[in-house]
Amino acid sequence: MAFEYAPAPESRSIVDIRSSYGLFINGAFVDGSGSLKSVNPATEETLADVATAGSGEIDAAVAAARTAYEKVWGKMPGRDRAKYLFRIARIIQERARELAVLESLDNGKPIRESRDVDVPLVAAHFFYYAGWADKLPYAGFGPQPRPLGVAAQVIPWNFPLLMLAWKIAPALACGNTVVLKPAETTPLSALLFAEICQQADLPPGVVNIVNGAGDTGKLLVEHSGVDKVAFTGSTDVGRAIARAVAGTKKSLTLELGGKAANIVFDDAPIDQAVEGIVNGIFFNQGHVCCAGSRLLVQESIAEELLATLKRRMTLLRVGDPLDKNTDIGAINSSAQLDKIRELSEIGAEEGAERWSAPCVLPDRGFWFAPTIFTGVTQAHRIAREEIFGPVLSVLTFRTPDEAIEKANNTPYGLSAGIWTEKGSRILAVADRLRAGVVWANTFNKFDPASPFGGYKESGYGREGGRHGLEAYLVH
Ligand code: NAP
Ligand code: MG
Repeated sequence: MAFEYAPAPESRSIVDIRSSYGLFINGAFVDGSGSLKSVNPATEETLADVATAGSGEIDAAVAAARTAYEKVWGKMPGRDRAKYLFRIARIIQERARELAVLESLDNGKPIRESRDVDVPLVAAHFFYYAGWADKLPYAGFGPQPRPLGVAAQVIPWNFPLLMLAWKIAPALACGNTVVLKPAETTPLSALLFAEICQQADLPPGVVNIVNGAGDTGKLLVEHSGVDKVAFTGSTDVGRAIARAVAGTKKSLTLELGGKAANIVFDDAPIDQAVEGIVNGIFFNQGHVCCAGSRLLVQESIAEELLATLKRRMTLLRVGDPLDKNTDIGAINSSAQLDKIRELSEIGAEEGAERWSAPCVLPDRGFWFAPTIFTGVTQAHRIAREEIFGPVLSVLTFRTPDEAIEKANNTPYGLSAGIWTEKGSRILAVADRLRAGVVWANTFNKFDPASPFGGYKESGYGREGGRHGLEAYLVH
């Protein structure tokens, strides 16, 4: 039985969105050489004009980061850097509601997620790396690990603030300074973070935020004044960056795409597995690099599991991201919606069977109903390519060996899930999966103490945990 819910919208008055924003360079908001408009994907309304950086502004940001590195931050004792990071973490907690509402407005993700997942994890990341700042000699990278210098960081739109935290917290803890470029469609929470840096009295130039499209990112990562490049985004752009950085002294970490297998064995508890499947592919509208976008289900339970899954999907509420009852918000941009539609059409053309949960989509904004494809084979494009939307491809298997072979049959290797009651099976299967993160009887769980990263075309380097320090230290 489905319940009717009265609307429970979070108020947007908590956040004061300015009509225009500058670039954040050397501790101040300054003019850019162009501008972009950030829109609310749930309504298509313009939220703000945001200044963009060309080569002059990138030069200025890198120079500010260099000066701050050499004069202040690079030589500051770790215990003092820690104080700034703890202060930033506490301000993030104090301003959590504001950050969550802004993130949902600019990105389209449900407030329930920005409020309960993104923003708490952002604060947790700063707390976690604040704790490392004065303990680096004990991190296992030698007695006197040194920072690299100026880090150029480029992030995508799916977790704007969380990806910022994953990049900035470890870099600063290790004594580096940063120039960060947010994604074109989600610049606003990074600009609020810039205000938080001011509020925390972070020395000017330690954090610089430059907005713009791909060419701004390209200017930044190719700048001769940076020592380190950290990128999260698509495999294609990651490849281009790897080529551009090759032969330079810059060190590089890449967090790229994924096509994770979520494997359900016949002894798995069906209801829990269905919750995990839903969380794995419909969390954040499926805009998740480690999403469980390929369901591998053991043939003997496929029928029962799919019936339960479809029943569960009919209960998902799609709509206003600011409504606290919403499970699935808006697709981040019309370009991403086109991509999801195109690959879904190809899935149907190639012979897979498409089923979407019945739901009424709002008239304005970018929306896609939660969808599954059954009868998918390894040859189908929807089994191989990242859709990056609320679309699940379902394949079946008969034996554990077949499941492992299918799970690994992908150019990616970011994450995977295993559902079974047997601990021994979890360990045996996890051991043979080529994926950076393997969840057992759960999915999409994150913790700042746990390293995250990929194999193969999902990139290299680890973020999070002690491992995440390695990417920002000379060793
Ligand atoms: P994208 O096109 O690669 O963009 C990522 C970032 O790079 C954006 O800020 C983008 O700017 C910028 N950019 C574009 N072209 C560039 C260039 N030539 N040089 C430097 N920077 C450039 O990826 P997306 O479509 O926004 O994000 C989705 C992808 O990210 C998915 O494939 C997903 O799997 C991956 N992802 C991976 C992880 C992970 O941890 N492994 C996490 C989240 C997302 P614009 O915004 O202006 O295009
Ligand atoms: Mg936006």
